[in-house]
Amino acid sequence: RYMNRSLIVAGNWKMNMTVREGMEFLEKLGPVDGKVMIFPPYTTLAVLAGEFRKRGIIYGPQNFHYKESGAYTGEISLPMIKELGCDCLLVGHSERRSYYNETDEEIQKKIQAALKEGFSVMLCIGENLEERKSGQWKNVLRKQLEKDLEGLSADRIPYIQIAYEPIWAIGTGVSASTEEITETHRYLKAVLSELTGSDIPLLYGGSVNEKNAADIGSCPGVDGFLIGGASLKPEKFRKIIEVSK
Ligand code: PGA
Repeated sequence: RYMNRSLIVAGNWKMNMTVREGMEFLEKLGPVDGKVMIFPPYTTLAVLAGEFRKRGIIYGPQNFHYKESGAYTGEISLPMIKELGCDCLLVGHSERRSYYNETDEEIQKKIQAALKEGFSVMLCIGENLEERKSGQWKNVLRKQLEKDLEGLSADRIPYIQIAYEPIWAIGTGVSASTEEITETHRYLKAVLSELTGSDIPLLYGGSVNEKNAADIGSCPGVDGFLIGGASLKPEKFRKIIEVSK
């Protein structure tokens, strides 16, 4: 593997996994080592927090509100999440951007609020198919990073991780090619270095599975995976963890 480094393996369970299913998943998964993260739905997160912690799995929510409390029906705040011992929070997933109209302005506020509370964040960015085909993807991704990371102070830089997830590769069963991933990660690493002066961890997401993980993980600039569908199956998730060590 490129530079012989170990990779971050993060599972995004989306709106899947009841508490019972989550527990069964952990039992089947067995012991893990390496940097493994899971983003479960809130209910499962709350009940199984101790189980994740016991296994050394980093866990956190898929979304949260940037206000501390108040009249925001249906929302969850950072103090509530803190109580569960969460470490890393997912922010700006393309499904939240597109289905819930989450804007870069809101994402920026969420990131600032989370960092202020001492959390680390995994910021998701990605272009759609039209933007990829028209060659606009570089501008689109740069804008997302510039807006979402606006106001990032130097001491919070170690708390940031980015997941590059081309929207056209999410849930399709067909990931971006290793050439596309290599080119895009090279570009994003350069933009991130320009914006932060640091080598920010950069994960790839979009139809990662137990068959393509080794190839994708060998691409220069890939520091790990954000996995949807394949993170719901313990045997698949385990195989991805094995190739990531
Ligand atoms: P997928 O989802 O692995 O099912 O394509 C990835 C994601 O949306 O995080």
